[in-house]
Amino acid sequence: MTLPRVVGAEHAVPLIDGRTIAYANLDHAASAPCLTAVRAAVDELLPWYAGVHRGAGFPSRVSTRVYERARTTLRRFVGAPDDAAVVFTRNTTDSMNLLASAVPAGSRVVLFDTEHHAALLPWRDAHRLRTPEVAADAVGVLDRALRERAAALVVLTGASNVTGEVWPVAALAEVAHRHGARVVLDAAQLAPHRPVDAAALGVDYVALSGHKLYAPFGAGALVGPADWLRAAEPYLVGGGATKLVADGFAVTWSDAPARHEAGSPNVVGVHALAAACEALAGSWDAVVAHEEALLERMRTGLAHVPGLRELALFEPGHDRVGVVSFTVDGIDPGLAAAVLSAEHGIGVRDGAFCAHVAVRRLAEGGQAVRASVGLGTAAEHVDRLGRALRLLVARGPRARYEVVDGRWSP
Ligand code: PMP
Repeated sequence: MTLPRVVGAEHAVPLIDGRTIAYANLDHAASAPCLTAVRAAVDELLPWYAGVHRGAGFPSRVSTRVYERARTTLRRFVGAPDDAAVVFTRNTTDSMNLLASAVPAGSRVVLFDTEHHAALLPWRDAHRLRTPEVAADAVGVLDRALRERAAALVVLTGASNVTGEVWPVAALAEVAHRHGARVVLDAAQLAPHRPVDAAALGVDYVALSGHKLYAPFGAGALVGPADWLRAAEPYLVGGGATKLVADGFAVTWSDAPARHEAGSPNVVGVHALAAACEALAGSWDAVVAHEEALLERMRTGLAHVPGLRELALFEPGHDRVGVVSFTVDGIDPGLAAAVLSAEHGIGVRDGAFCAHVAVRRLAEGGQAVRASVGLGTAAEHVDRLGRALRLLVARGPRARYEVVDGRWSP
């Protein structure tokens, strides 16, 4: 089984000393590079794309066919049943906001407080459970909360974007279902790394983003039971979402999914997302093996950096995808990220990763550095990270970095 290739893997980037070096992509958790197969699929569609559901011309018919076929691809990709609705959205954030708007009025929603903001903030009046000190205890915490008071929906995350740790989704979903609640899985960070099987995990809705799945920005999906989506008023209104606008503006909305896809759909983005799903679905063994080897190698390198502490919600040895966040004693995370980029051509992310509650709890100062591997990462990249951090610790930060507009800059 061959490893899918990404575009741009051979990029050279400038260093502070005037040299150039191969870019070390350790920032897949933010956005993954595009697969070559995705670029080929987009190239194939570009000469033919036209408005979806909006024209009788041949390109429009091609686009409509491509767009509708992508729903089947997404349904299969996440292991959802044949009758699941697939709504194309912009990203996971959009998918979560859509579901939040579609939950029946008065429903109680339960979630853990360490979620990514995309999963946390759409449900302002949700019941937020404090993620326990050892997150594995979350199963018991959820059980007690739902026994006290039933809920309509539980929001879960597949893999943490802060620690990469994989949540015990099947066990949590079993508890939710036992108490009559549905489950939505934020799969933004899990879907690029592991097969997501909604049926096996026991989750009802799956939300994901194309740009984390090796497709370009702009397309994501919400997959799940159609009933709530059918009954809900669209939260974005306009053309395509309506069957009829009568004189006097009485509106009859289309059925789901069209009801929640107002405006001209992003057919190229959706096609790219489907192409990425197909490429990954055909190569999981190779993808998982590649990432596991890189993750182990990276963590071995990090273990040799004095003063480095990994962030973790679960106990040591817990299953995780290729994402590691850490702090280094005495070194500002923003400065570390700037040095890694400017002196070593390494791309990482620093800050609180849109999960402020989680990072505040896990890292002194509420900030960390995040290194994440994927199909655009080579073994040399993770080796370089370990070397660069050891050098930084040994030498201390250089004077030539300063804070510009709130960020460390050479
Ligand atoms: N959930 C998780 C776990 C994520 O990592 C992200 C992206 N960082 C999101 C949700 C939101 O994804 P998007 O920005 O594509 O909407």
